[in-house]
This record gives sequence, C-alpha cells and structure tokens, in this order.
Amino acid sequence: MKNFFSKNIKDSLKEFDVTTNGLTNKKARELLESVGENVLNERKKKSTLSVFIDQFKDLLVIILIIAAVISMATGNIESTIVILAVITINSILGTVQYIKAEQSLASLKSLTSPNAKVIREGIKVEIPSKSVVPGDILILEAGDLVVADGRILENFSLKVNESSLTGESESVDKISYVIDKDEVALGDQKNMVFSSSLVTYGRATVLVTNTGMNTELGKIATLMEETQEKSTPLQASLDAFSKKLALAIIGICILVFGLSLYRGTNVLDSLMFAVALAVAAIPEALSSIVTIVLAIGTQSMAKENAIIKKLKAVEGLGCVSVICSDKTGTLTQNKMTVKKIFVDNKLVNANEIDLKNPIAHFLLTSSILCNDSTSIDGNEIGDPTEVALVNLGHDYSISEIDCRKNHSRLSEIPFDSDRKLMSTLHKIDGKSTMITKGALDVLLDRVTSIKTIHGLKRFTNEDKTHINNINKKLSSQGLRVLAFAYKELNENKNIDLEDENGFTFLGLISMIDPPREESKSAVTDCLKASIKPVMITGDHKITASAIAKEIGILQEDDLAVEGLELDKMSDNELFSKLEHISVYARVSPEHKIRIVKAWQNKGKIVAMTGDGVNDAPALKQADIGIAMGITGTEVSKDAASMILTDDNFATIVKSVTNGRNIYANIKNSIKFLLSGNMSGILAVLYSSLFALPVPFAAVHLLFINLLTDSLPAIAIGMEKSKKDVLRDKPRDANESILSQDFIKDVCIQGLLIGIFTMISYHIGLTKGSDGLAMTMAFSTLCLARLFHGFNCRGRKSIFSLGVFNNTFSWIAFIVGVILVNAVLLIPGLQGLFEITPLATSELLSVHLFAFLPTLIIQIFKVIRDIVESKKEKIEIENDNESKVQAA
Ligand code: ATP
Repeated sequence: MKNFFSKNIKDSLKEFDVTTNGLTNKKARELLESVGENVLNERKKKSTLSVFIDQFKDLLVIILIIAAVISMATGNIESTIVILAVITINSILGTVQYIKAEQSLASLKSLTSPNAKVIREGIKVEIPSKSVVPGDILILEAGDLVVADGRILENFSLKVNESSLTGESESVDKISYVIDKDEVALGDQKNMVFSSSLVTYGRATVLVTNTGMNTELGKIATLMEETQEKSTPLQASLDAFSKKLALAIIGICILVFGLSLYRGTNVLDSLMFAVALAVAAIPEALSSIVTIVLAIGTQSMAKENAIIKKLKAVEGLGCVSVICSDKTGTLTQNKMTVKKIFVDNKLVNANEIDLKNPIAHFLLTSSILCNDSTSIDGNEIGDPTEVALVNLGHDYSISEIDCRKNHSRLSEIPFDSDRKLMSTLHKIDGKSTMITKGALDVLLDRVTSIKTIHGLKRFTNEDKTHINNINKKLSSQGLRVLAFAYKELNENKNIDLEDENGFTFLGLISMIDPPREESKSAVTDCLKASIKPVMITGDHKITASAIAKEIGILQEDDLAVEGLELDKMSDNELFSKLEHISVYARVSPEHKIRIVKAWQNKGKIVAMTGDGVNDAPALKQADIGIAMGITGTEVSKDAASMILTDDNFATIVKSVTNGRNIYANIKNSIKFLLSGNMSGILAVLYSSLFALPVPFAAVHLLFINLLTDSLPAIAIGMEKSKKDVLRDKPRDANESILSQDFIKDVCIQGLLIGIFTMISYHIGLTKGSDGLAMTMAFSTLCLARLFHGFNCRGRKSIFSLGVFNNTFSWIAFIVGVILVNAVLLIPGLQGLFEITPLATSELLSVHLFAFLPTLIIQIFKVIRDIVESKKEKIEIENDNESKVQAA
C-alpha cells in the first residue's frame, strides 16, 4: 500500500502523472472507466423473494395458515383454497408496497448525493461526487463533505471533522507537509483527508488518492450497518395502539368462540370463525398504511422541491408554528447585482466608476482578490455576494483569472458568518498587502486611516459618522453593503485573526438582492395558518428590516433585534418579547440556537433554515431543520431533516401544507380502517349475543379484509393536498391521533354500517335461509365499506372535496364493486365463497343498504359544511367591520 502521508507533494503528483492543473477530461473519463465510480457498494438490498417470504412471518398470516389447516381438517377444501389465495394475494400486496416504499425512499436519497469541486484542465468545475477519480485535484472549502481520500497539497487553515471514521468529535487541524514515518494511525495522518469527513473551517487543495470502496470508509463499509430509520412517533403510537386493540379483539373472539361452542357448533368450525373474525377485525394495516402514505407524500413533496431526509419530519411539519428563515437566498433571490459604490468620498452607481481613480481601481481589484468565486462564460461558482463582485469586474474588463494570476494569494483567513470578515494576503506593487472585506459595523471599528487621492489620512469620528450615514442610506433601500479595507504588512506571513485591525478604509460596495416573488404570498399564507414567520439574518438590521417590511414579515408592532441586543437580553426578557420579534439581524449561528430554544420553551414546534457550516447545531436543535439544496453546505445538509432543492421560503410553506395534508390523509385512512372493522365486529357480536346464526362465513371475513384494507385505504392516503388546511391552527404535537372527535366518528360510522348490515341480514333471515341472510350481510358490509371510502376522503362532504378529485378512490371503489358482484353472480365463485344466489330485488336491496350509511353521513356533512361556511362568512364580515371601525 502506498503511504501518501510520507510522500512529498511532488512525488504524490507524479504517482498519478498529474499536475496541480488537474486531469484532462479525457484522462478522467478513462480513469472513471478503469477504476469505477466513486461510490460505496450498497448494502445488499433484500431480494423480492425474501421480502415476499418475510410477509409470512406476520402473526396474522400464521393464524391464517392455521385456519387453512383447520379447514382442510374439516374437509372444507374450498375454504382452504380461498384462505391460501387470500394469504398469497395479501403477501403480494405487502411485497409490492414494501418495494415501492423502499424505492421511493432510495430515490429521495439519490437526490441528495453531493457534488465535488475539482480542477480539470486547469479550471475549477463542479462534478457529481461519483465521478471523482484518483488523480483528481479536489478543492475543499468550509462546509464541504470530503468525497474521497486524498493527500493535502495546499492547506489554508483546514479543519476537518472525522468523527464518522475515528469517532473523535472535535475537528482536527490539517497540514500539508510530509509525515516522515512508516506507520501512522488514521487520526494522525494530518496531511490526508478521508471520505465522509466534513470540512468545518478553512480551505485546501487535495490530490485524490483513493475513491469508492478503496477509501478508508470503503474498507470499513462492510462492517457498517446502515442506520435504519426508527419508526416515526405516529407509527410508534399506532403500533402500541394496534397491540392493545388486538388484545381486545382477541378477547372478543374468545367470547364469540365460547358462545358458538355453547350453541352447539363444532369446535373446529367455531375456531375457524373466531380466527377469521380476528383477522378481519385486527387493524394490522395501521402502521404500514402510515409508511405507505408517508412514502407517497414524500415523493410528491420531492417533486415540489422539498426532500425529506427523516420521515418523522413529515409528521412534524403539520405541527410547525414558527418558521425561522434565513433572508439571503431563501426569502430573497440570492441574485446579487452591485448597485452603488462609495469610494474616494463619492457615492456612484455601479456603471459610473472612474477606473482612472487609483482608489476605485484598487477597490475593484481588491474585491476580486479577496474573493473565492468565479464567473466564467456564465458559469458562476461560489457565493453570490462574491460572484456579484467578479461580475462587476467583468463590466470593467477586469478578468478574475488574470487579476488573481498577477497577485497570487499568499495567505488567507476565510470568511465565517460569526466573524463576518474575510482577509487575504497578496503582493501588490511589491508590498505584502492584506485585503479585508466584510460587514461594515465589524470592520469600521478596526479602521485607523482612510485612503484618499492625496495619500493616507487619519480616520476621524466625522469620517465614521459619514460612512455610517451612507451605509444607513444604502441599507434602508434594502441593499447589502460590504466594506473593504486593507493593510500593508512588513513581510509575507501566515495571516491570522490578530492581524485583522489597524486597517485603511477603501470603500463600500452595495448590492441588491430582490425578494423572491413568491415570498410575500407565502408569508401571507403563514400568517393565515397561524404560523409565525421570523427572519434571521447575518445582514444589517436596516437592510433586513427593509426587506422584511416589503414581504410582510415585519408588521406594525413587530420588533427587529440585533445579535448584540440579543446578547444583552436575559432569557426572561427574550421569553416575554419573543412573539413580537420578527427580525433578528447581524446574528451569528449561536444566536439561532438560543432563538429556537426560546420558542421551544413556549411549547412551539420550530422549523429553522440554515446553510452554513456553523448552522448544523441549530438545525439539529430545531424540530424541523431545513438545509438549502443549492447554496447549503454539505454539513448543513447532513444535520437537516429536510432539504429545499430550490432554497425557497415558499417551498417551506408548501411543505407545511403538505405535512398537514399527509397527516390528515393518514388519519382518514385509519378512520376508514377502524370504522370498517368496527362494523364487522358489531355485526358478529350482535348475532352472537342474540343467539342468531352467524352473519358471515370465515371466507367472507377474509374477503372483506383483503378487499377493503388495501386499495381503498391507500386511495384515501393519496388525497391531493388542499390549501384549505392553512386556515386551521397548527396541530398540537402532543395531540393523539385518536382524539375524542376521531373516536366518536369511528364509533358512529362503524355503528351505522353495522346497523344496515344487520337490517340486510334480518331481511335475509325472514325471507329465507341462514345462507341467504349470510350472503346479504356479507355483501352489504363489503359494499358499504367500499362506499364508506368516499366518506373518509376528508372532513367535508364529497361535493366540497370535489366528487372526482381523487381518481384512485374511484378506481378502488369500482374494482371493489366489480369483485363483490363477481363473487355474488359468477356460479363458480359462488361455491367458493359460500354464496347463496340472490334474486335481482335482493341484489338491489343489498346495494341500497350498503349505500344508505354513506348517504346519511354525506347529508350530515353537507349540512355541516353549509353551517360552517355561514359561520365563517359572518366571522369575516365581523372582522372586516371591526377593521373599518378601527380605521
Ligand atoms: P442569511 O443569514 O440571511 O443567509 P447572510 O448571507 O447575510 O444572511 P452571512 O452570510 O452570515 O449572512 O453574512 C453576514 C454578513 O457578512 C453580511 O451581511 C456581509 O456584510 C458579510 N459577508 C457576507 N458574505 C461575505 C463574504 N463572502 N466575505 C466577506 N463578508 C461577507
């Protein structure tokens, strides 16, 4: 094995026959073919067959198999065939659902795979991490994920968190010089970086030495078990509920079994019936319906630019009551364009800079040198603030490539959003010159002189006031202002934080970053949905307030608070003012945690956005941590539970709407399952208690279970997202899905269906045989449950929801009705399903009795809709009236 840590840079590069200009595209392609993609072998996926076999490990399936054996023993071959068919179809459905859910989660994962910055043919390009090959020159910056192993060539204060490999949670400082040893532990190979580490500070160029399975991570990958996602809180609580319910149902089944024996039915038949009842009544689909609906939901959310990383975030989204959002890029477009420049005591427009003025020329050069971005042929790479500066240079025919070649960077202190400054060291006119750019308020306190056309001048209080006034003027127009200063050093050295003072002021460059068009309406939606939008930004208070006012976040009585003011506030003070503070400006990432915690102490569920490397703790602390897909660092994406692929605030609001809808869909599916099962149990209990003949044969119960527990329940889960939900308040996170209203609905609706099933049953009894009664009860219950699917689509009547808005529910219904009628009408199937042929009038009455519960429920819903919309109208009128009176 080659130990690159003990090799010098020249030899290392030679090993791959490459220079610091990187590989040629041709060579990179060839290497990719010979070495393979830079990916880890996926944990072996379960084969379809093993997923299918797994379905048989379910307790209910085992019960069914026992039932099949019992029927065989009782000589009831037809029943055995039906039960086996039920088991097989159920298992196929289970397999399909499992694979679909897996596929949708896997496709979400592939959407979040990172990019890498490499130098190819001398130019910095961004490529998918899987295309990185050994020999590539990788550029690492704070916030990046290291995507391959490599030897550090150039190191600018690089700090890397290698906890995923070494377990060490502290970031380690890296070096670029040779480690002259034969053997060095991984954690001490300080001139190397390893795949899966996160860059927390600084910058480096790295020669890729190993990719894919050859990396240190690849070597241990076989030992790593992919972290399985724990079940979501809802799944956990439903699992617990299902277990309790199953116990209660088994109790009922034992009672039914006892009564059946008491009435003289033989043991095996009684047992068979009790088993079938258990299978039909136990809502085994509850937890899996949550997974399916969540998986379907996350798929449609991904199409709307929100990638869910943790399934439980979908549930949480429905409870969000505060959204703390960054300004730049999330509420604004992040398309920065330089507007005004203050240089040599003059404020000019971006197109009016006089390059003959040496200070103006120096300012422009500085803005390109103290800058990591490039903009070549419209291909912009880097921070938009910096890209705007590069583009300004282009407007004056200054190329960043030439400029940086002429004054190469000798040392640097990278930008970080805590310090709000960035410094670089260059040789300019033979002098070691440190250029610093950053937030005016931070920089101005460190300025001691000012550059004028007549030479350096002492920086006075008047100068300071004047520049601050210019800053205020620019900021109040919503412009972001960057200040520039420089300092000559006696020697070339590695600059550090202590050097960032004693500056000479150069000028200001301000840029516009217009709000996104959708931000305003998204903020209005938030307010309507009783969600508080809060802007948290590193930008200046006046700039932030101007934008916040424009989009409606900062309203009349609201406050804008600066990081420094926040520091002075006690927790109690913050607690009492919290609801009024809509803008936090000049904050650093630590403030974000304090703000999240303060809201959480008020019992609120907080969504918080973040993009920087230091945002990770706040993203983890927030209930829903949201990272930016375009501008966000890999570190922030790693910490988040959701990623916005368009970095857009409006997408968060859309996701909250989706979160609320998905939760409602899950609740409705569960209501459908529970109320349907309830009607079956009530019918059986009724007949058992009143010593009537059993209303269903075992195969009937199995058929109902198969037909209604799958398709219609999933169709309800696929109900489209409705903006209506934004009228409600956020859901209480502690509220159980089985609220009083929910249980009431389940009981009433289950009872209604049960009653009509029994009416049908009694008609059958009085008209003819036990067999006729059984057929009528079975078909009524089955059809009624299919109709009931429409009732469970939402709280409102089907007319308010849109009769044809959910195609899937119609498909589930029509398929179901066809199958029931097939069983009722086709002679071959009649025998198999213990059906007594029905006369036309009986067939019609069965359909009618099945429809009546739905008719009653819908009439009730229509009346409730009318009353509620009237109430809403009156409320709006009263509201308007009181607004007019107040005005
Ligand atoms: P948000 O937190 O809303 O995304 P932001 O981008 O304004 O906002 P930061 O990136 O932390 O927040 O920037 C804070 C301040 O630091 C800016 O207002 C600006 O003055 C300064 N700044 C931003 N980018 C740079 C940079 N690349 N170099 C130097 N200073 C910068």
